[in-house]
Amino acid sequence: MAAPSTAPQRIVVENAAIATVDADDTGYASGHLVVAGNRIESVGPGSAPGDLANVVRRIDAAGHLVTPGLVNTHHHFYQWITRGLATDHNLFDWLVALYPAWARIDERMVRAAARGSLAMMARGGVTTAADHHYIHPVGSGDLSGAVIGAAAETGVRLTLARGSMDRGEKDGGLPPDFAVETTEGALAATEETVKRHHDASPDAMVQVAVAPCSPFSVSTELLRESAALARRLGVRLHTHGSETAEEEKFCHELFGMGPTDYFESTGFLGEDVWMAHCVHMNDSDIAAFARTRTGVAHCPSSNARLAAGIARVPDMLAAGVPVGLGVDGTASNESGELHTELRNALLVNRLGVHREAALSARQALRLGTHGGARVLGRADDTGSLEAGKLADFVLWRIDGLGHSTIADPVAALVLGAAAPVTASFVNGRQIVENGRLLTVDEDAVAREARTEARRLARVAARP
Ligand code: ZN
Repeated sequence: MAAPSTAPQRIVVENAAIATVDADDTGYASGHLVVAGNRIESVGPGSAPGDLANVVRRIDAAGHLVTPGLVNTHHHFYQWITRGLATDHNLFDWLVALYPAWARIDERMVRAAARGSLAMMARGGVTTAADHHYIHPVGSGDLSGAVIGAAAETGVRLTLARGSMDRGEKDGGLPPDFAVETTEGALAATEETVKRHHDASPDAMVQVAVAPCSPFSVSTELLRESAALARRLGVRLHTHGSETAEEEKFCHELFGMGPTDYFESTGFLGEDVWMAHCVHMNDSDIAAFARTRTGVAHCPSSNARLAAGIARVPDMLAAGVPVGLGVDGTASNESGELHTELRNALLVNRLGVHREAALSARQALRLGTHGGARVLGRADDTGSLEAGKLADFVLWRIDGLGHSTIADPVAALVLGAAAPVTASFVNGRQIVENGRLLTVDEDAVAREARTEARRLARVAARP
Protein backbone atom coordinates (compact mmCIF):
# COMPACT_ATOMS: atom_id res chain seq x y z
CA MET A 1 0.00 0.00 0.00
CA ALA A 2 1.35 3.44 -0.87
CA ALA A 3 2.37 5.59 2.07
CA PRO A 4 0.15 8.61 2.73
CA SER A 5 1.37 11.65 0.82
CA THR A 6 1.95 13.53 4.08
CA ALA A 7 4.59 11.01 5.25
CA PRO A 8 8.10 12.49 5.21
CA GLN A 9 10.32 11.52 2.35
CA ARG A 10 13.28 9.39 3.30
CA ILE A 11 16.90 9.46 2.15
CA VAL A 12 19.02 6.41 2.95
CA VAL A 13 22.83 6.55 3.14
CA GLU A 14 24.56 3.17 3.34
CA ASN A 15 27.95 1.42 3.33
CA ALA A 16 29.76 4.40 4.84
CA ALA A 17 32.10 4.74 7.77
CA ILE A 18 30.23 6.92 10.27
CA ALA A 19 31.55 9.14 13.07
CA THR A 20 28.42 10.10 15.02
CA VAL A 21 30.18 12.44 17.50
CA ASP A 22 27.56 11.44 20.07
CA ALA A 23 28.39 11.51 23.79
CA ASP A 24 30.22 8.17 23.53
CA ASP A 25 31.95 9.00 20.24
CA THR A 26 30.20 6.03 18.63
CA GLY A 27 31.60 5.11 15.23
CA TYR A 28 30.73 2.48 12.64
CA ALA A 29 33.19 0.99 10.15
CA SER A 30 30.23 0.41 7.84
CA GLY A 31 26.86 1.81 8.74
CA HIS A 32 23.70 3.57 7.61
CA LEU A 33 21.94 6.86 8.14
CA VAL A 34 18.25 7.37 7.43
CA VAL A 35 16.81 10.86 7.00
CA ALA A 36 13.08 11.53 7.19
CA GLY A 37 12.16 15.07 6.14
CA ASN A 38 14.64 17.44 7.77
CA ARG A 39 15.65 15.12 10.62
CA ILE A 40 17.73 12.01 11.16
CA GLU A 41 15.48 9.02 11.74
CA SER A 42 18.11 6.40 12.49
CA VAL A 43 21.84 5.81 12.40
CA GLY A 44 23.56 2.52 13.07
CA PRO A 45 25.81 -0.31 11.91
CA GLY A 46 25.21 -2.35 8.76
CA SER A 47 22.41 -1.72 6.27
CA ALA A 48 19.30 0.35 6.82
CA PRO A 49 16.07 -1.50 7.68
CA GLY A 50 14.76 -3.09 4.47
CA ASP A 51 11.08 -2.18 4.86
CA LEU A 52 11.26 1.62 4.83
CA ALA A 53 8.47 3.39 2.96
CA ASN A 54 8.79 6.63 0.98
CA VAL A 55 12.49 6.23 0.20
CA VAL A 56 13.15 8.81 -2.52
CA ARG A 57 16.89 8.36 -2.65
CA ARG A 58 19.38 5.66 -1.68
CA ILE A 59 23.07 6.66 -1.59
CA ASP A 60 25.77 4.00 -1.70
CA ALA A 61 28.47 5.80 0.29
CA ALA A 62 31.20 3.15 0.12
CA GLY A 63 34.62 4.77 0.46
CA HIS A 64 33.22 7.67 2.49
CA LEU A 65 33.17 8.92 6.04
CA VAL A 66 29.90 10.49 7.17
CA THR A 67 30.14 13.12 9.91
CA PRO A 68 27.88 15.80 11.30
CA GLY A 69 28.11 19.02 9.28
CA LEU A 70 30.85 21.36 10.43
CA VAL A 71 29.84 24.32 12.60
CA ASN A 72 31.75 27.57 12.20
CA THR A 73 31.37 29.60 15.39
CA HIS A 74 33.18 32.79 14.39
CA HIS A 75 33.59 34.62 11.09
CA HIS A 76 33.26 38.08 9.53
CA PHE A 77 31.71 37.42 6.13
CA TYR A 78 32.30 40.96 4.85
CA GLN A 79 36.06 40.44 5.00
CA TRP A 80 35.88 38.20 1.91
CA ILE A 81 36.45 41.36 -0.16
CA THR A 82 39.50 42.53 1.85
CA ARG A 83 41.65 39.39 1.84
CA GLY A 84 45.41 39.36 1.49
CA LEU A 85 46.00 42.85 2.89
CA ALA A 86 48.27 43.82 5.82
CA THR A 87 49.77 40.36 5.66
CA ASP A 88 52.66 40.91 8.09
CA HIS A 89 50.88 42.69 10.94
CA ASN A 90 49.76 41.94 14.48
CA LEU A 91 46.09 42.40 15.39
CA PHE A 92 46.11 46.09 16.34
CA ASP A 93 48.28 47.19 13.38
CA TRP A 94 46.20 45.01 11.05
CA LEU A 95 42.95 46.54 12.34
CA VAL A 96 44.26 50.09 11.98
CA ALA A 97 45.31 49.28 8.40
CA LEU A 98 41.91 47.84 7.49
CA TYR A 99 39.35 49.97 9.36
CA PRO A 100 39.36 52.79 6.75
CA ALA A 101 38.40 50.36 3.97
CA TRP A 102 35.88 48.48 6.12
CA ALA A 103 34.19 51.78 7.00
CA ARG A 104 33.25 52.18 3.30
CA ILE A 105 31.36 48.92 2.84
CA ASP A 106 27.78 48.97 1.58
CA GLU A 107 24.92 46.52 1.16
CA ARG A 108 25.96 45.30 -2.30
CA MET A 109 29.53 44.65 -1.15
CA VAL A 110 28.39 42.82 1.96
CA ARG A 111 26.00 40.66 -0.03
CA ALA A 112 28.77 39.65 -2.46
CA ALA A 113 31.25 39.04 0.36
CA ALA A 114 28.75 36.98 2.36
CA ARG A 115 27.98 34.86 -0.70
CA GLY A 116 31.71 34.25 -1.18
CA SER A 117 32.35 33.38 2.46
CA LEU A 118 29.34 31.10 2.66
CA ALA A 119 30.02 29.36 -0.65
CA MET A 120 33.63 28.68 0.34
CA MET A 121 32.63 27.24 3.70
CA ALA A 122 29.68 25.26 2.42
CA ARG A 123 31.59 23.41 -0.26
CA GLY A 124 34.06 22.39 2.48
CA GLY A 125 31.40 20.79 4.68
CA VAL A 126 30.14 23.67 6.82
CA THR A 127 26.41 23.41 7.49
CA THR A 128 26.06 26.08 10.21
CA ALA A 129 27.97 29.34 10.37
CA ALA A 130 28.06 32.39 12.63
CA ASP A 131 28.75 35.80 11.12
CA HIS A 132 29.96 38.48 13.53
CA HIS A 133 29.17 41.68 11.67
CA TYR A 134 30.21 44.76 13.65
CA ILE A 135 30.74 47.51 11.05
CA HIS A 136 27.65 49.50 10.10
CA PRO A 137 28.68 52.68 8.28
CA VAL A 138 26.05 55.42 8.10
CA GLY A 139 23.92 55.00 5.00
CA SER A 140 25.37 51.56 4.15
CA GLY A 141 21.94 49.95 3.81
CA ASP A 142 20.49 46.75 5.25
CA LEU A 143 23.68 44.78 5.93
CA SER A 144 21.98 42.19 8.16
CA GLY A 145 19.42 41.58 5.43
CA ALA A 146 22.22 41.12 2.89
CA VAL A 147 23.91 38.46 5.04
CA ILE A 148 20.66 36.65 5.78
CA GLY A 149 19.74 36.67 2.09
CA ALA A 150 23.14 35.18 1.17
CA ALA A 151 22.73 32.41 3.75
CA ALA A 152 19.26 31.59 2.41
CA GLU A 153 20.65 31.41 -1.14
CA THR A 154 23.53 29.10 -0.24
CA GLY A 155 21.39 26.99 2.11
CA VAL A 156 23.65 27.29 5.18
CA ARG A 157 22.18 27.56 8.68
CA LEU A 158 23.10 30.98 10.07
CA THR A 159 23.71 32.65 13.41
CA LEU A 160 23.92 36.36 12.67
CA ALA A 161 25.85 37.98 15.49
CA ARG A 162 24.75 41.62 15.12
CA GLY A 163 27.91 43.41 16.12
CA SER A 164 28.59 46.99 17.09
CA MET A 165 31.36 49.46 17.94
CA ASP A 166 30.92 52.75 19.83
CA ARG A 167 34.43 53.40 21.25
CA GLY A 168 36.25 55.40 18.60
CA GLU A 169 39.66 57.01 18.86
CA LYS A 170 38.36 60.06 20.72
CA ASP A 171 37.17 57.73 23.51
CA GLY A 172 40.47 55.85 23.73
CA GLY A 173 39.36 53.08 21.36
CA LEU A 174 41.12 51.64 18.33
CA PRO A 175 38.66 52.26 15.44
CA PRO A 176 38.51 55.68 13.77
CA ASP A 177 35.56 57.76 14.96
CA PHE A 178 33.88 57.62 11.54
CA ALA A 179 33.63 53.81 11.79
CA VAL A 180 31.60 53.62 14.99
CA GLU A 181 27.92 53.94 15.91
CA THR A 182 26.40 55.73 18.89
CA THR A 183 25.68 53.54 21.91
CA GLU A 184 21.93 54.11 21.68
CA GLY A 185 21.90 53.66 17.91
CA ALA A 186 23.75 50.34 18.11
CA LEU A 187 21.42 48.98 20.79
CA ALA A 188 18.26 50.05 18.95
CA ALA A 189 19.47 48.60 15.63
CA THR A 190 20.48 45.34 17.33
CA GLU A 191 17.09 44.99 19.00
CA GLU A 192 15.36 45.63 15.70
CA THR A 193 17.51 42.97 13.97
CA VAL A 194 16.64 40.39 16.63
CA LYS A 195 12.92 41.18 16.44
CA ARG A 196 12.91 41.07 12.67
CA HIS A 197 15.06 38.01 11.99
CA HIS A 198 15.56 35.76 15.04
CA ASP A 199 13.80 32.40 14.81
CA ALA A 200 13.69 30.59 18.15
CA SER A 201 12.34 27.32 16.71
CA PRO A 202 14.54 24.18 17.01
CA ASP A 203 15.07 23.85 13.25
CA ALA A 204 15.64 27.56 12.65
CA MET A 205 17.75 28.48 9.61
CA VAL A 206 18.43 31.98 11.05
CA GLN A 207 19.14 32.98 14.62
CA VAL A 208 20.42 36.34 15.80
CA ALA A 209 22.84 37.08 18.64
CA VAL A 210 23.87 40.36 20.28
CA ALA A 211 27.57 40.94 19.63
CA PRO A 212 29.47 44.11 20.58
CA CYS A 213 32.88 43.83 18.96
CA SER A 214 35.64 43.89 21.60
CA PRO A 215 36.81 45.69 24.76
CA PHE A 216 38.97 48.06 22.69
CA SER A 217 36.19 49.13 20.31
CA VAL A 218 33.12 49.13 22.59
CA SER A 219 32.20 51.23 25.63
CA THR A 220 31.56 49.63 29.02
CA GLU A 221 27.99 50.87 28.76
CA LEU A 222 27.43 49.14 25.41
CA LEU A 223 28.82 45.86 26.78
CA ARG A 224 26.59 46.05 29.85
CA GLU A 225 23.48 47.13 27.94
CA SER A 226 24.10 44.48 25.25
CA ALA A 227 24.16 41.76 27.90
CA ALA A 228 20.92 43.10 29.38
CA LEU A 229 19.32 43.35 25.91
CA ALA A 230 20.23 39.78 24.95
CA ARG A 231 18.78 38.43 28.18
CA ARG A 232 15.61 40.47 27.80
CA LEU A 233 15.15 39.15 24.25
CA GLY A 234 16.26 35.58 25.05
CA VAL A 235 19.10 35.43 22.50
CA ARG A 236 22.81 34.65 22.77
CA LEU A 237 25.74 37.00 23.31
CA HIS A 238 29.01 37.06 21.44
CA THR A 239 32.21 39.10 21.36
CA HIS A 240 35.98 38.90 20.89
CA GLY A 241 37.98 38.34 24.08
CA SER A 242 41.56 37.91 25.28
CA GLU A 243 42.87 37.74 21.74
CA THR A 244 46.28 39.37 22.17
CA ALA A 245 48.81 40.55 24.75
CA GLU A 246 48.11 44.12 23.56
CA GLU A 247 44.41 43.74 24.41
CA GLU A 248 45.31 42.48 27.87
CA LYS A 249 47.53 45.53 28.40
CA PHE A 250 44.75 47.82 27.10
CA CYS A 251 42.28 46.37 29.62
CA HIS A 252 44.69 46.72 32.55
CA GLU A 253 45.44 50.33 31.62
CA LEU A 254 41.84 51.42 31.00
CA PHE A 255 39.86 49.26 33.43
CA GLY A 256 42.44 48.14 35.99
CA MET A 257 41.78 44.46 35.31
CA GLY A 258 42.26 41.77 32.68
CA PRO A 259 39.71 41.07 29.92
CA THR A 260 37.90 38.16 31.64
CA ASP A 261 37.39 40.08 34.91
CA TYR A 262 36.25 43.06 32.86
CA PHE A 263 33.75 40.95 30.92
CA GLU A 264 32.44 39.44 34.15
CA SER A 265 31.98 42.94 35.62
CA THR A 266 29.72 43.85 32.67
CA GLY A 267 27.58 40.68 32.87
CA PHE A 268 29.28 39.26 29.82
CA LEU A 269 30.01 35.74 31.08
CA GLY A 270 27.38 32.99 31.12
CA GLU A 271 26.11 29.88 29.41
CA ASP A 272 24.39 32.10 26.83
CA VAL A 273 27.74 33.70 25.83
CA TRP A 274 30.45 32.58 23.44
CA MET A 275 33.67 34.47 22.89
CA ALA A 276 36.17 34.34 20.03
CA HIS A 277 39.87 33.55 20.60
CA CYS A 278 40.47 33.51 24.40
CA VAL A 279 44.18 33.11 23.77
CA HIS A 280 45.55 35.00 26.78
CA MET A 281 43.74 33.26 29.62
CA ASN A 282 45.26 32.44 33.02
CA ASP A 283 44.01 29.62 35.26
CA SER A 284 41.49 31.83 37.01
CA ASP A 285 40.11 33.07 33.64
CA ILE A 286 39.60 29.47 32.51
CA ALA A 287 37.98 28.64 35.86
CA ALA A 288 35.59 31.60 35.40
CA PHE A 289 34.62 30.38 31.92
CA ALA A 290 34.10 26.84 33.27
CA ARG A 291 32.05 28.04 36.26
CA THR A 292 29.79 30.17 34.08
CA ARG A 293 29.79 27.73 31.09
CA THR A 294 30.91 30.54 28.78
CA GLY A 295 31.79 29.15 25.35
CA VAL A 296 34.94 29.68 23.27
CA ALA A 297 35.38 29.96 19.49
CA HIS A 298 38.90 28.68 18.89
CA CYS A 299 40.43 30.16 15.70
CA PRO A 300 43.89 28.59 15.33
CA SER A 301 44.76 29.84 11.82
CA SER A 302 43.76 33.43 12.51
CA ASN A 303 45.64 33.40 15.82
CA ALA A 304 48.73 32.18 13.99
CA ARG A 305 48.31 34.63 11.06
CA LEU A 306 48.15 37.59 13.48
CA ALA A 307 50.80 36.14 15.82
CA ALA A 308 48.28 36.27 18.70
CA GLY A 309 49.42 33.06 20.38
CA ILE A 310 48.02 29.62 21.17
CA ALA A 311 44.75 29.29 23.07
CA ARG A 312 44.84 26.78 25.93
CA VAL A 313 42.22 24.47 24.45
CA PRO A 314 43.29 21.27 26.31
CA ASP A 315 43.05 23.13 29.65
CA MET A 316 39.66 24.58 28.68
CA LEU A 317 38.31 21.15 27.74
CA ALA A 318 39.68 19.60 30.95
CA ALA A 319 37.92 22.32 32.95
CA GLY A 320 34.62 21.74 31.12
CA VAL A 321 34.58 24.92 29.00
CA PRO A 322 32.47 24.49 25.81
CA VAL A 323 34.79 24.97 22.81
CA GLY A 324 34.03 25.18 19.08
CA LEU A 325 36.10 26.16 16.05
CA GLY A 326 36.05 29.33 13.99
CA VAL A 327 37.49 30.36 10.63
CA ASP A 328 37.52 34.00 11.80
CA GLY A 329 37.28 36.65 9.11
CA THR A 330 39.03 35.94 5.85
CA ALA A 331 41.15 39.07 6.15
CA SER A 332 43.07 37.14 8.83
CA ASN A 333 42.48 33.61 7.49
CA GLU A 334 42.42 33.90 3.73
CA SER A 335 41.58 30.21 3.16
CA GLY A 336 38.05 30.73 4.49
CA GLU A 337 37.72 27.00 5.18
CA LEU A 338 36.77 25.27 8.40
CA HIS A 339 37.72 21.68 7.61
CA THR A 340 41.40 22.65 7.62
CA GLU A 341 40.90 24.14 11.09
CA LEU A 342 40.34 20.64 12.49
CA ARG A 343 43.90 19.82 11.56
CA ASN A 344 45.28 23.21 12.53
CA ALA A 345 43.64 23.04 15.97
CA LEU A 346 45.31 19.70 16.59
CA LEU A 347 48.71 20.81 15.29
CA VAL A 348 48.80 24.20 16.99
CA ASN A 349 47.74 22.82 20.35
CA ARG A 350 50.41 20.11 20.19
CA LEU A 351 53.00 22.89 20.03
CA GLY A 352 51.88 23.92 23.54
CA VAL A 353 52.78 22.41 26.89
CA HIS A 354 50.54 19.34 26.54
CA ARG A 355 52.47 18.19 23.47
CA GLU A 356 51.13 14.99 21.86
CA ALA A 357 48.38 14.66 24.50
CA ALA A 358 46.93 18.09 23.64
CA LEU A 359 44.18 17.04 21.24
CA SER A 360 43.29 13.78 19.48
CA ALA A 361 41.83 13.59 15.96
CA ARG A 362 38.44 12.70 17.48
CA GLN A 363 38.60 15.66 19.83
CA ALA A 364 39.41 17.91 16.88
CA LEU A 365 36.38 16.58 14.96
CA ARG A 366 34.23 17.12 18.08
CA LEU A 367 35.38 20.76 18.33
CA GLY A 368 34.35 21.35 14.72
CA THR A 369 30.91 19.73 15.08
CA HIS A 370 29.24 19.11 18.43
CA GLY A 371 31.48 21.60 20.24
CA GLY A 372 30.48 24.31 17.80
CA ALA A 373 26.79 23.46 18.04
CA ARG A 374 27.03 23.68 21.82
CA VAL A 375 28.75 27.04 21.68
CA LEU A 376 25.98 28.38 19.40
CA GLY A 377 23.29 26.96 21.71
CA ARG A 378 22.11 24.45 19.10
CA ALA A 379 23.49 21.13 20.39
CA ASP A 380 20.02 19.74 21.14
CA ASP A 381 19.30 19.82 17.41
CA THR A 382 22.56 19.61 15.47
CA GLY A 383 26.28 18.82 15.84
CA SER A 384 26.01 15.01 16.06
CA LEU A 385 24.41 12.19 14.11
CA GLU A 386 21.65 10.88 16.35
CA ALA A 387 18.02 9.93 15.79
CA GLY A 388 15.82 13.00 16.11
CA LYS A 389 18.52 15.55 15.28
CA LEU A 390 18.46 17.78 12.23
CA ALA A 391 19.76 16.23 9.00
CA ASP A 392 22.96 18.31 8.76
CA PHE A 393 25.70 15.93 7.58
CA VAL A 394 28.60 15.50 5.17
CA LEU A 395 29.93 12.64 3.02
CA TRP A 396 33.73 12.94 2.83
CA ARG A 397 35.48 10.85 0.20
CA ILE A 398 38.36 8.98 1.88
CA ASP A 399 39.21 6.25 -0.64
CA GLY A 400 41.05 8.52 -3.08
CA LEU A 401 44.70 9.42 -3.44
CA GLY A 402 44.80 11.69 -0.40
CA HIS A 403 43.41 9.19 2.10
CA SER A 404 43.18 5.58 0.89
CA THR A 405 46.20 4.41 2.90
CA ILE A 406 44.97 5.81 6.24
CA ALA A 407 42.97 3.04 7.94
CA ASP A 408 41.23 5.18 10.59
CA PRO A 409 38.66 7.34 8.76
CA VAL A 410 38.67 10.08 11.40
CA ALA A 411 42.48 10.28 11.29
CA ALA A 412 42.18 10.44 7.48
CA LEU A 413 39.76 13.37 7.71
CA VAL A 414 41.65 15.35 10.35
CA LEU A 415 45.29 14.60 9.57
CA GLY A 416 45.13 13.99 5.81
CA ALA A 417 44.72 16.45 2.97
CA ALA A 418 41.41 18.35 2.85
CA ALA A 419 38.99 15.52 1.97
CA PRO A 420 36.72 15.99 -1.06
CA VAL A 421 33.08 16.60 -0.13
CA THR A 422 30.93 14.26 -2.19
CA ALA A 423 27.72 15.53 -0.61
CA SER A 424 26.63 17.90 2.11
CA PHE A 425 23.10 18.17 3.49
CA VAL A 426 21.56 20.95 5.57
CA ASN A 427 18.12 20.48 7.06
CA GLY A 428 17.66 17.40 4.86
CA ARG A 429 18.44 19.34 1.67
CA GLN A 430 21.55 18.57 -0.37
CA ILE A 431 23.60 21.73 -1.01
CA VAL A 432 26.90 20.24 -2.29
CA GLU A 433 27.56 17.49 -4.82
CA ASN A 434 31.06 16.35 -5.80
CA GLY A 435 32.64 19.49 -4.36
CA ARG A 436 30.34 21.91 -6.20
CA LEU A 437 27.52 23.92 -4.75
CA LEU A 438 24.05 23.03 -5.97
CA THR A 439 22.49 26.22 -4.63
CA VAL A 440 24.56 29.01 -6.19
CA ASP A 441 26.83 29.38 -9.21
CA GLU A 442 30.35 29.40 -7.71
CA ASP A 443 31.91 31.14 -10.70
CA ALA A 444 29.29 33.90 -10.60
CA VAL A 445 29.88 34.30 -6.85
CA ALA A 446 33.63 34.57 -7.45
CA ARG A 447 33.18 37.16 -10.23
CA GLU A 448 30.74 39.27 -8.24
CA ALA A 449 33.01 39.21 -5.16
CA ARG A 450 36.00 40.31 -7.23
CA THR A 451 33.99 43.17 -8.74
CA GLU A 452 32.91 44.34 -5.28
CA ALA A 453 36.44 43.94 -3.84
CA ARG A 454 37.75 46.20 -6.60
CA ARG A 455 34.94 48.69 -6.07
CA LEU A 456 35.72 48.82 -2.34
CA ALA A 457 39.42 49.33 -3.06
CA ARG A 458 38.51 52.26 -5.36
CA VAL A 459 36.07 53.82 -2.89
CA ALA A 460 38.52 53.39 0.00
CA ALA A 461 41.32 55.09 -1.97
CA ARG A 462 39.24 58.29 -2.24
CA PRO A 463 39.94 60.93 0.41
ZN1 ZN B 1 37.00 37.86 14.73
